[in-house]
Amino acid sequence: MDQRQERQARNEALVRQVNEKIEQVDQASSFADDEMAFEFHCECGRADDDEIGCDERVVMTLREYEEIRAQDDRFAVVPGHEDAALEDVVRRSDRFLVVDKKPVAEPLVADDPRGAASG
Ligand SMILES: [Zn+2]
Repeated sequence: MDQRQERQARNEALVRQVNEKIEQVDQASSFADDEMAFEFHCECGRADDDEIGCDERVVMTLREYEEIRAQDDRFAVVPGHEDAALEDVVRRSDRFLVVDKKPVAEPLVADDPRGAASG
């Protein structure tokens, strides 16, 4: 794994923390239910010049997001933003892909505050 990939993987973990906040706010909305869709940040972690470069949004329901978050090495990205060097696509939909970190990248995202490792 090169430095760019390492930075990308770390960015993914950062973006995930932002999405966690989004989910908390969405869940706190009195009108929200599990089937309501919200815009989350794409978790691809692409970076340009040390900035977290991806501004695209992934539209997911709270239920879909929770299913992805149940495993701490899975991330939701915009179709086409997957990186075959770091992750495998485990699920595809019209709106997003779910990617599973390859073992080489897992240590970089292992400080996730919740979720079980997929092994
Ligand atoms: Zn992206």
